[in-house]
Amino acid sequence: MFTTKRDDTICALSTASGVAAIGVIRISGKETFPISEKLFSKKLSDKKSHTVHFGTIKKDGRVVDEVVITIFKGPNSFTGEDTVEISCHGSPYIEEQILQACLDNGCRMAEPGEFTMRGFMNGKMDLSQAEAVADLISSSSKASHQLAMHQMRGGFSKDISALREKLIHFASMIELELDFSEEDVEFADRGDLKELVDEIRKVLRKLVDSFATGNVLKNGVPVTIVGAPNMGKSTLLNALLNDNRAIVSEIAGTTRDVIEDEMSIGGVGFRFIDTAGIRETSDTIETMGIEKTFEKVNQASIVLYMVDAVDSTRKEIIEVIEKFREKIDDKDKQLVIVANKIDKAGDTENVEKKFTGIENVIFLSALTRSNLDHLENKLLETVNTGVLNREESIVTNARHYEALSKALSSLDDVRTGLDNNITGDFLAIDIRKSLHHLGEITGEITTDDLLGNIFSKFCIGK
Ligand code: GDP
Repeated sequence: MFTTKRDDTICALSTASGVAAIGVIRISGKETFPISEKLFSKKLSDKKSHTVHFGTIKKDGRVVDEVVITIFKGPNSFTGEDTVEISCHGSPYIEEQILQACLDNGCRMAEPGEFTMRGFMNGKMDLSQAEAVADLISSSSKASHQLAMHQMRGGFSKDISALREKLIHFASMIELELDFSEEDVEFADRGDLKELVDEIRKVLRKLVDSFATGNVLKNGVPVTIVGAPNMGKSTLLNALLNDNRAIVSEIAGTTRDVIEDEMSIGGVGFRFIDTAGIRETSDTIETMGIEKTFEKVNQASIVLYMVDAVDSTRKEIIEVIEKFREKIDDKDKQLVIVANKIDKAGDTENVEKKFTGIENVIFLSALTRSNLDHLENKLLETVNTGVLNREESIVTNARHYEALSKALSSLDDVRTGLDNNITGDFLAIDIRKSLHHLGEITGEITTDDLLGNIFSKFCIGK
């Protein structure tokens, strides 16, 4: 069960655990000032909001650290409540001592995401904005960062709220008609309702369709490298990683099931799937079996099939491409032939001739890194990055996608109902259904389960 009490005062370490230059402990709730004043050497409640104060923290009569405390008075804080942030020296011992002192004086340890949840509960942000906070923290490429930022600042949820309001108006008009069912009155103009329903369906359709792009931009484009042994797969992976390795590679809560290498190319994240296999060099069509290779291929949206530009024969290359074509019926999947080791080729013309008529070939040398940029550009080309430049609203969250799809489907029912002149009571049911799904996105409709599910995925302290 998630958060039984919502009016007590909570505390948590908001920075990552482990030794660091500084650590930040956050306290939020009604008793924030009385509790902090018991620990801190100065009075805080009489100070202005958004000010910073230097002093010492004591526990059991002993000075634990010299700190600075930033104070935020509700409602002008992230949570909407009185909040302080204690910046102490980043020793896990000091942080633990300060947290313990907070608990001794009446705080409770915050649950994951509880600060953000309080912000949502206190109307500081809607649910989709709260979710964007988590996305922002885990964003690891320019694209995923931009999308999270857009969503956190309102994104499409404002539009959804506005359209939902208009629809609520119609729903209540139709429900009012039902009260006068004997008299055959029509408060809700069916022509206007049709127009509104079509407008909302258009908006929803666009958002639903954007999820395919939004999802890859947020989570990274899944790529796999396959090919016979010694073609240079691991050399290529290392060359790409050296060029593009993310500065921060491990973020709590983002570990995935399969071993992957992540990199950011041109601001877009790419996930190289199942790269452990490549490193162990058992990752070949021969040793893994064709089925196993296709399993891996199925998870990827870009498949790099590696051949030796000099030694592989045209017949071999064409045979494999045909096998892929048979298996890959998904049009969104791209097969790129990487013709490696061009540095060995004395006569490049002859090599290129071998590939005449074969689509999507990149000639490169993983060893000398020549033409590596051709491959990087090819990878980028497969992603619709135009949406980022146009600052369009893009759905990146699977929960929103699901709710939007359901809302759209109920609105399709409303439209069909209107075309068939169905009675107000049935119309009202379908409208209420779509209102429910739209409300789930912004959080006008929530359940404890839903909130628990969303916020429990946050880190503690956020
Ligand atoms: P994998 O089994 O497909 O992962 O292949 P490796 O990356 O282990 O490479 C096999 C051998 O090919 C190694 O000796 C590499 O140094 C060599 N190799 C890889 N890429 C190139 C290249 O572009 N040019 C040349 N000449 N040799 C390469």
